[in-house]
Amino acid sequence: TSQVTTIRDATPILPQVKNIIAIASGKGGVGKSTTAVNLAVSLAETGAKVGLIDADISGPSIPTMFNVEGEQPSVKKVGDKNIIIPIMQYGVKLMSIGFLTPTDSAVVWRGPMASSALRQFISDVEWGELDYLLIDLPPGTSDIHLTMVQTVPVTGAVIVTTPQKVALADASKGLSMFKQPQINVPVLGVVENMAYFTPEELPDNKYYLFGKEGGRKLAEKYQVPFLGEIPIVQSIRESGDTGFPAVLKNGITKNAYMNLAEAVAR
Ligand code: ADP
Repeated sequence: TSQVTTIRDATPILPQVKNIIAIASGKGGVGKSTTAVNLAVSLAETGAKVGLIDADISGPSIPTMFNVEGEQPSVKKVGDKNIIIPIMQYGVKLMSIGFLTPTDSAVVWRGPMASSALRQFISDVEWGELDYLLIDLPPGTSDIHLTMVQTVPVTGAVIVTTPQKVALADASKGLSMFKQPQINVPVLGVVENMAYFTPEELPDNKYYLFGKEGGRKLAEKYQVPFLGEIPIVQSIRESGDTGFPAVLKNGITKNAYMNLAEAVAR
């Protein structure tokens, strides 16, 4: 089993959960959910007990990325309370806003609804003992985010960005949000996703399609840890679509995600 350090106390709501980590991004489409999924599975691969909450109301993608689309978590009665049993896949306990809404439906989640769903995912789900409970937040830094982050005793935040200028600008807003006095959540660090591309036939070449080292520089500017970089790899995208996380296949991608898990656990 892995060595798990507690970053900040997640008590009193979930005394059996050591760390509640929000995965955030300023902008959509930077790979926040992909990173959350692979990080969750990587942490589980190290022997940690891991749960993942998909709170991305803008498009819950975790059911697809875990190949559990359309599954319904079962509910059991404890006293007069209904307790939801999370769905277990690849060693990770899952709860998603997507399990509550039929696929392809055009449900519009409003802020208060999203926050109360998240609160329910914390208090009414049988998580049991966990080393890490990751929360895939919606992209952005609106009032919804503020409320969601305040709803849950988050112990740390991971910021996902691409090295592109517009993504970095939004990521720094995300960083600032967690640092606000009324939020005051420690930022565990920055992940630079889609950091570079290496063609198979040119394994020694790196092409910086979205710019170079933007995430690293952002981390330096805000004096938070740089957690690592994930390259652009076709199989990462394909793994998301087929519901079999890239980290479960051997290769450079697996190494990149396992290193990321190690950096987060540090
Ligand atoms: P977000 O949660 O930030 O909106 P997603 O995780 O849904 O972003 O990723 C957006 C798209 O980019 C998806 O199609 C995903 O498969 C793809 N993607 C994410 N990270 C990578 C990567 N490192 N390499 C290749 N494709 C990626």
